[in-house]
Amino acid sequence: TEISNLTVAVRVRPLNTQECSLAKVSNIVRVNVNELTVFAGMNADATAGLTHSFTYDHIFDSTDPDSKNYANQEEVFRGTAIPLIDRAFQGYNACLFAYGQTGSGKSHSMMGIEALDDDASGSSIPHPEAGIIPRFCREIFNRLERNKHSIRAEIEISYFEIYNEKIHDLLCVTQSEGNNSIGNNHAASTPITTIGNSRPALKVREHPIWGPYVVDLSIHPVDSYEAMRNWLAVGNSQRATAATGMNDKSSRSHSIFNIVLNLMEIDGESSCNETGTDSYATNQTRRSRISLVDLAGSERISTVGSNGDRIREGVSINKSLLTLGKVIAALADAKKSTTNGSGFVPYRESVLTWLLRKRSFFLGQ
Ligand code: ADP
Ligand code: MG
Repeated sequence: TEISNLTVAVRVRPLNTQECSLAKVSNIVRVNVNELTVFAGMNADATAGLTHSFTYDHIFDSTDPDSKNYANQEEVFRGTAIPLIDRAFQGYNACLFAYGQTGSGKSHSMMGIEALDDDASGSSIPHPEAGIIPRFCREIFNRLERNKHSIRAEIEISYFEIYNEKIHDLLCVTQSEGNNSIGNNHAASTPITTIGNSRPALKVREHPIWGPYVVDLSIHPVDSYEAMRNWLAVGNSQRATAATGMNDKSSRSHSIFNIVLNLMEIDGESSCNETGTDSYATNQTRRSRISLVDLAGSERISTVGSNGDRIREGVSINKSLLTLGKVIAALADAKKSTTNGSGFVPYRESVLTWLLRKRSFFLGQ
């Protein structure tokens, strides 16, 4: 069908040490299968106050590692990302967002920890604290390895962030690392700094067939999990560098990791056929675009300072998150109603939603 499938999951993180040290702070969230109850206005002696209950497609309770319901990184990955990988291998586009306030655990869920040298030997076991993105990359290559006699794949990745409605490439190669043939004649004697907004912002255009894309975004072909992971590390370090001295810019920017998966089924018959000149004769090609998104913090603008710049940042972020909310509400409405009547979806009202049209899935923190 035309209409996206949306799935909403919630992950509850444990209280941090600071929260635990505050008197009267206790876990006010209870999880029962896929119903989450928040106890609000509870009295000091824990007698009843207001309660609110919400139902989701999945709830991952990560509050207590000793509980039998504890959801670790692997389980969060399995519950959210495996269905998307299944769909991607069928040729569908997919998108996964982490939404929530700063400190709620978005980056922990999406990226987590991926030790760079733990598996130089090519081990297929992920770091226990690796998040969805590195596990996603690993799973793609594990599946390709298992199907190497029937599927040939070409994979490209890109990684960028949206800050103040402007797009910055997180994998751009600096001039000094780039093409030697043009480098030396240039008068540029000062080192190029990639901190902050010195890198030019990139523009979005609409391709008549492929839809919206980022002009001049660097695209990197990858043929192994290690290659993908190395690019991830480059992007994460660029993100971190840009954030230093900028009042934790990362909490106000959206980071978007993209995978384009081109899968060609190898025709079994012609590959065995001695007379065939092309052993890679294919009978089907599938292309799927996947975006894994760590959204800016969802906290209100009123918590942002009164400095003019920061207010503008807050407004833009609100605009992107607001539009995302509108888009998801419109898609959910379209899913509910059987007619396609009033289904206007305001994708073009923000850079984020314009670029991510025709993807699906959603994760809340
Ligand atoms: P966000 O990206 O939403 O701002 P982070 O992912 O940086 O939040 O998480 C904030 C802090 O909480 C980090 O120190 C992180 O390690 C910790 N944390 C988040 N989720 C979990 C979890 N499920 N279990 C243990 N610690 C977590
Ligand atoms: Mg974060």
